[in-house]
Amino acid sequence: MEKITLVEAENLSKAGNILHAFLGRTGGVSPPPFGSLNVGHHVGDRGENIEKNLSIIAERLGIDRSRLVVCNQVHGNNMVHIRDSAMCGMGRYSADAIITDKRGIALCVLTADCVPIIVVDRDGRVAAIMHAGWRGTLKEVVPLTIRRLKTLYNIEPRELIAAIGPAIGGCCYRVSATLMEGFRTAFQKAPGMDNKARSIDLKTVNGWQLQKEGIKDVDMTNTCTACSVDSFFSYRKEKTTGRQLNMVMLKE
Ligand SMILES: [Zn+2]
Repeated sequence: MEKITLVEAENLSKAGNILHAFLGRTGGVSPPPFGSLNVGHHVGDRGENIEKNLSIIAERLGIDRSRLVVCNQVHGNNMVHIRDSAMCGMGRYSADAIITDKRGIALCVLTADCVPIIVVDRDGRVAAIMHAGWRGTLKEVVPLTIRRLKTLYNIEPRELIAAIGPAIGGCCYRVSATLMEGFRTAFQKAPGMDNKARSIDLKTVNGWQLQKEGIKDVDMTNTCTACSVDSFFSYRKEKTTGRQLNMVMLKE
């Protein structure tokens, strides 16, 4: 079987007590166009393939399959606060951000071009994962989640580190004039927006949002999912395709 594609952020790898992974599409059992490590329901793949893929991932990462949290992602800014393992499961909540201070629970978001963002504190006491496409970016899912971390756990942004995983790059994300205008109006002089090419680099804009909230240590992968469809699912490039898993867990 093909190897699993796994991207890790340097700063998160160095942090204590954290397990994280930005996975790609290889190493699973789903046939084309979901080949092969698809974990997304509602894309047309068979449920049994998804189950098998989740087991492959759990084994590879050394996590308990029953302790995954995957939300029904709705391109909003809602957040789920996981308070105990009884809250784990697939599709139980509609949200695009998940946070916890409980150990041994794998917080996940699924992507195919959208931006996966992981935030933890340096000591590995809290973890958050977010999913941001253009809608979530405009709805400020990242800044809102950082502020909720502060409210709930009294953790200052300077204690946090963040990583942005593989997502569509500005190279492949040309947008409508209306959307370009919407981003300009919302984010003014933020980097990652090219008026002339009418393209947006969502990773860069989300990285800017993280830094604006006071997080200095932000790791960003250069990988563009649409440029790398051998390794990653890309909705923009392929339309009918799978979803890859991105995960963070506070180690037990
Ligand atoms: Zn690209």
